[in-house]
Amino acid sequence: MAIPRLILYRDAALADASGPSLQQGISVLVAGQRILAIRPTSNEGILHPDARIVDAGGSTIVPGMVDAHSHVTLPGGSHWIDRGFDAPDLLLQVAEHNGDLLSHAGVRWARDVGSPQAIDPRDGRKRALALRVRERWRADPTRPKMRVAGTWIAHSGVLQPGLDIEADDGPALLAAAKAQLDDGADLLKLYLDGPKKEEAPWSAEDVRAVVEMAHGRGAFVTAHSGFLAGARVGIDGGVDSLEHGFELDSDAVAAMARQKMFLVSTLAIFRSWASFSSTTTIPRFVSDDGKERIARRRERAVESVRLAHRAGVRIAAGTDFGGGSLRANHLAWEVESLVEAGLKPWEALASATVLGGELLDDPDAGRIFEGGPADFFLVHGDPLTDPTALWRVWRVAWLTVPRTGP
Ligand SMILES: [Zn+2]
Repeated sequence: MAIPRLILYRDAALADASGPSLQQGISVLVAGQRILAIRPTSNEGILHPDARIVDAGGSTIVPGMVDAHSHVTLPGGSHWIDRGFDAPDLLLQVAEHNGDLLSHAGVRWARDVGSPQAIDPRDGRKRALALRVRERWRADPTRPKMRVAGTWIAHSGVLQPGLDIEADDGPALLAAAKAQLDDGADLLKLYLDGPKKEEAPWSAEDVRAVVEMAHGRGAFVTAHSGFLAGARVGIDGGVDSLEHGFELDSDAVAAMARQKMFLVSTLAIFRSWASFSSTTTIPRFVSDDGKERIARRRERAVESVRLAHRAGVRIAAGTDFGGGSLRANHLAWEVESLVEAGLKPWEALASATVLGGELLDDPDAGRIFEGGPADFFLVHGDPLTDPTALWRVWRVAWLTVPRTGP
């Protein structure tokens, strides 16, 4: 058996997101895909003669990030909705490109909360494309690790027909949810915006029946929530997390904190849309009306996250890349947005790392520790005080881990 090659990352700083202070003068020894030791550089101990040394001086080690809201089969950009109807083969190529973008941006985990369905050539069954990507990437330790929600489950008249599974009452909702789990989904994604913004598409009892069924099968339930009516039904129905939460109030966040629900923030969407006012000619982004509407929604969404944070709700960071207009290497933008919403930079980094791991219920994800996976990357600057440091990626440990010995 080949001995895993040893790599020593010498004399870096370490930002583990457990507090505001950076540790300097740290050496991390990696064997294959595991972290063997984390030591002060002044006390590395006796080093194996075959260990390869990476002089990491001036860089900062950061835990591999978790993009808690992603759509790996979709490319994003200003025509993001149209791209959902591209041919499945093309979308699978998009996923491979997104896998490269994620890794090189320091994102180790992608929680996929919706992909189009297509016939799977292995058995002829129609199911969410991201399930196929998950299987493919499982076999390659350098590819992103995934959790997959299958496809979107929504009331008719909300999403573009053909993209989602439509369910207009409780029994149809439960049947759709069961079918997603039968297909192999790790979690469920309910779309809690209804055809009318003031009305949720289902009752809290309908949602609760899905949550009980899913929990019984070891799966989590999350809910898209653009408006307050849907958020309330999600909270009363006992879902595990709300996505976006663009319109929360103090009662909603208090209940979320009590129920230990997660909020997955996606505030950078509004920054992306604002950028389209100068980079596109699309009226909803460039017109005065459109710009004002986006600015208003952004302000309300930032306020929701601020309320949630103050109430003690755990917040995980997501880009909504693909399902929205961001690209797969933009998670740093969301960390910046969380700082705007009142989180300290180190708390915002925790939202993109360790809290993302808690949301996935994976004790290894978003953390750095001896014996844990060598899932870290190195940037320049201090992301505990300056989120823009996350854009300056120098090196990604899991991409440099050789699979066999020398
Ligand atoms: Zn989304």
